[in-house]
Amino acid sequence: MDILTYHIETFGCQMNVHDSEEIAGALNAIGLQPAKDLKSAQVIVFNTCCIRDTAEKKILGKIGDLKHLKQQSKDVIIAIVGCMMQQEGAAENLIKKFPFIDIILGNVNIDELAAKVEEILENKRIKRKSYISVLMHEKPEIVENRPVYRTSGTNAWVNIIYGCDNFCTYCIVPYVRGRERSRQPQTILQEVRGLIDEGYKEITLLGQNVNSYGSDRKDGYGFAELLEQIAKIDGKYRLRFMTSHPKDFNDKVIDIIAATPNFCNNIHLPLQAGSNKILAAMNRKYTRERYMEIIDKIRAKMPDCGITTDIMVGFPGETEEDFQDTMDLVRKVRYSNAFTFVYSPRTGTAAARMEQIPYSVKKDRITRLIALQNNISKELSDSYVGGVYEVLAEDAPRQNQLCGRTESGRLVTFEGSKDKIGSFLTIKITKAKASALWGEIENGK
Ligand code: SF4
Repeated sequence: MDILTYHIETFGCQMNVHDSEEIAGALNAIGLQPAKDLKSAQVIVFNTCCIRDTAEKKILGKIGDLKHLKQQSKDVIIAIVGCMMQQEGAAENLIKKFPFIDIILGNVNIDELAAKVEEILENKRIKRKSYISVLMHEKPEIVENRPVYRTSGTNAWVNIIYGCDNFCTYCIVPYVRGRERSRQPQTILQEVRGLIDEGYKEITLLGQNVNSYGSDRKDGYGFAELLEQIAKIDGKYRLRFMTSHPKDFNDKVIDIIAATPNFCNNIHLPLQAGSNKILAAMNRKYTRERYMEIIDKIRAKMPDCGITTDIMVGFPGETEEDFQDTMDLVRKVRYSNAFTFVYSPRTGTAAARMEQIPYSVKKDRITRLIALQNNISKELSDSYVGGVYEVLAEDAPRQNQLCGRTESGRLVTFEGSKDKIGSFLTIKITKAKASALWGEIENGK
């Protein structure tokens, strides 16, 4: 019998990308293999995202497109999983609209997917079932030792905490990913050690809010303690983490990163807004003053640290003065890169019920913010030209061309052969754009 194949389409954040690696691991474990593309797969999985209404609409459109495939081959198994399915009524609505779907799972029970696929295959016919996890006001068990099929080359993602307790007023995540659940330190350490032994050169610790790691256990072992122990693992590798929340960022974490060569001098610290009034309306639980205090401490300990951020403009109630507060902080911090967004209401969140501001105003503000950030990014990029940096070769976008990142997170493209992927190379920077650098390998190293 031919080996069955699967195709996973992932939408949304890095947590979803890693969830898809676990889904792939589970499907490989039951004997399936990755398909060449969606059309040739016998099992199609959409790992969904619901962070924005627009993202959801796009996914619904793509699910609709699957109807033709199902009409051509009734044996194709279609599974829709992830955050979108975790919302109240979503599974029922989906099955009504797209009755050809075979499996629906929320993100906390994606580990059941392989068993459901097997069940359908054993029955030799499609037996439609709808599975959805209970709404996420509870703490579902963390399932350990799931097989993972890693697709991220030299980099490996390691979840340390699931869920979020913060309830920022614009965000749906706490409703769909549930309360914070931290993994046990020993299982994380074991996983990181194993990955380094396997040859991974960069480990990124993942969580919606990594800084609150351990706070659900209340045993005094938190993110700083975890970093301290991970830092003791021998080897030449890089450590990063995402995403941080300023409200939980503490001095001990800064001290450990500064003192440990394996931790990259690169911190992503979402600002979201520079106005205290807007930060309060967002329920972010820090002020612009506290945010700047953290930045000053990072700069004092790590002057070369690349700091990146997320900024949202056009939140309900944002005035020009509030927006100028954001612009002011951007000028003060001088981020190496910023992910900028126009706020759009997310159904089911508190901010969606607030009075919205016109799109034309939001558009004008985001244009000004992007222009400011581009200038800063370009100035910072220019300061790299002529310098020599260690770059981890991560990918080969073209023949005889490699790309990788500096410790501070800057993307560098240079000439080199594929066999150097996974190596730490010494690169002289020769050219810069706002968000990218070009260079050459120094003395063949
Ligand atoms: S910290 Fe705020 S923005 Fe981040 S996932 Fe939690 S609620 Fe959403």
